[in-house]
Parts: sequence; C-alpha cells; structure tokens
Amino acid sequence: MNEFKIDVEDSCLVLLSGGIGAATLLACLKKQNVEQVNALFFYYGDYVSNEKQYAEKLANYYGINLRVMDISNIYGNNMSVRYPVSFKQVNDFYIPYRNGVFVSVATAVAYYLHCSNVVWGTSSSSFNYYSDCQPNFVKTQKSAVHFGTNGDVNLLVPFLKFSKLDIYRMGKRLGVPLELTWSCANSNENPCGKCFGCIERNFNSEILKTEDLQITKVCTQ
Ligand SMILES: [Zn+2]
Repeated sequence: MNEFKIDVEDSCLVLLSGGIGAATLLACLKKQNVEQVNALFFYYGDYVSNEKQYAEKLANYYGINLRVMDISNIYGNNMSVRYPVSFKQVNDFYIPYRNGVFVSVATAVAYYLHCSNVVWGTSSSSFNYYSDCQPNFVKTQKSAVHFGTNGDVNLLVPFLKFSKLDIYRMGKRLGVPLELTWSCANSNENPCGKCFGCIERNFNSEILKTEDLQITKVCTQ
C-alpha cells in the first residue's frame, strides 16, 4: 500500500463523485504530480445534487478542471420508478447500467480533451451490490475503451481490489479533507446515517478512529 501508484504519467480524466474514493484518487494523482488532471461529474437527477456540490468542492480544493455532464434525462428525477424489478441484484440504490454510461461518455470526453486515461475509483466493496462494478464488467469495459479508441484512451481502475476501508485509510494518510466529501445516498442537509454509504463510512471511521465531521453531523441531528 505504501508503494501504491496510479499508472498515469501525463494526462487523465477522473470520474468524480463526491465520495472519499474519488477524493483519494485526486490526492494520489496530485502526489504523483500528474501534469493534466481533469474531472467529470455525472448529474443524473436531484438524487445527486449534494454529491455534485461536494464534487465541486473537491475539484476546487485540488485545483482541477471539473466538467458536469447532465444525464438526468436518461434517469429522470423520480428514483422510485427507476428500478426494473427483473434485475436480480437490484437494490434501493441501483441505477441501471450507470457505470456503463459513465465510462462510455467519459471515454469520448477524454478523447476530445487529449487525455490518455480515464480513471474510475470503484472498489471491491461495490461488488455485491452493483452488477456494473463487478470484475468481469470492468474487464470488458477496459477492452471496449482500449479497442474503441485504437489505444489512444485507456481505462484505469486502480482501487478495484481495495476495500472501502483500504481507501479510507489511504485517503487519511494522504490528507484527504473528509469534510469536503459526501457518502450518503440521499441529498438532505445532513447525511441520513441509515443508507449503505453512511453505515460503511461510519464503520470505517470507527475502525480507523477518525474524527469525521460528516458522521458527527448524523449523530447530532
Ligand atoms: Zn445516508
């Protein structure tokens, strides 16, 4: 873990969320002095309006160029009708083929920005929940990006084998500003404390004995 390095030399486009994983990616790239770091946030409905604000805060903090792509007309704003019940792995937070959309669009954007890499911070904690985070999906996406751009763009997924706890630990070591990150699946004023994102963050924070202001907000509301 101490030797961890993302395989980027000159330019990349980061799929930015407002979470700790994305923040840790930015911190790693910053530490490696990557010359050109761009970020792309996908706005897919009111559901992620908080996350968008935090992605903007992170982009400001790390001094990188952030583009926001509005794809809310794909998913609409009413999440309650969004899930096809035929999906076996569906759960409250599954957005159909979201990551497939993200990677495809990001690849085209990277191409136009002359970025040679798209960097996606998904991790092993997502495997049980989302079909479009699983290793087979990632493997085929890597091939699609590589062959679809004639090798000009590559998809990097450096945290694929890491747990969220690993990433939290790395982020902490790299000085990620936790107060500028958002893990809750809802967009209320304070984190809900009940969704998977909140529970996992709370759990990791306790293990690492971290003062995490987002969790303090849950506890005091
Ligand atoms: Zn929550």
